[in-house]
Amino acid sequence: MGELPAAVSIREVGPRDGLQNEDPVPTADKVRLLDALPRTGIRRIEAVSFVHPKAIPQMADADEVWSRVTRDPAVRYSALVPNSRGARRALDAGFTDIEVVVSASDTHNRKNVNRSTAESLDDITELISLLHKENARVEVIVATSFGCPYEGDVAPERVASIVDRAVADGADRVAFGDTTGMATPRRVTDLVTAVRSRQPDVPVLLHFHNTRGTGLANILTAMELGVTEFDASVGGLGGCPYAPGATGNVATEEVVHMLSDMGIETGVDLDALVEVAAMAQDIVGRELPSGVLRAGPRYRTIPA
Ligand code: ZN
Repeated sequence: MGELPAAVSIREVGPRDGLQNEDPVPTADKVRLLDALPRTGIRRIEAVSFVHPKAIPQMADADEVWSRVTRDPAVRYSALVPNSRGARRALDAGFTDIEVVVSASDTHNRKNVNRSTAESLDDITELISLLHKENARVEVIVATSFGCPYEGDVAPERVASIVDRAVADGADRVAFGDTTGMATPRRVTDLVTAVRSRQPDVPVLLHFHNTRGTGLANILTAMELGVTEFDASVGGLGGCPYAPGATGNVATEEVVHMLSDMGIETGVDLDALVEVAAMAQDIVGRELPSGVLRAGPRYRTIPA
């Protein structure tokens, strides 16, 4: 095993990426989930996305959700926006951490936003400039970084060149989305190495879906490569829009469970987090895929 980091920063994406891929839930439940998460010690939360309600009905109440949330000053909340209209809504709502997305796969990008990857990168140039004028920080998320459901493998060099462009445009940070769960440790090594060789200084976050069960293995591999920022969703909320019935993001409590037993600091209280995972399961009304939610942490013994 390579050298592992002493601490890892987890961004909770259940309220956005998770709930966006579930059947719509009431506004009050979204607020309840967002209010509960900071009490676990989580310090970064992707709260909402400001998208067109017809495109993504699950996020239609984003403004209302955010206005009702009790914001914890210790937490960095972020919002995802698809365009300048969304960016304006996010700024008006008070967000200073904004995420924008481009897909590394041309076909996936066209299916999503009816534009080529190159056209979306031009849009992002404008978005970064708009958001920086308002003193917001911009994270460029590269979706389908580890593979595309339409095109198959995506060359790490293609992803790295997208990062080159984003960094040249002033992106404050980049994230790599394993949108459909196609990453494996080998692909993580190839991509992180390709990006680092060209952009050693830009902060990198990895976003894995556990669609094919490789989420934790990918995180372990990335940590050995020095990556210390990961997305995860409580309970493993969410799914995969291209694979009905598939699991969502890697479950936050499974990540915290593994890391804390390895002595890697996350700042998160596992027992409190498992309680929120149970709440999330209750909210969506279906059994969530998290093994730690189902079986409890490994230190919980049963009477002999
Ligand atoms: Zn995702």
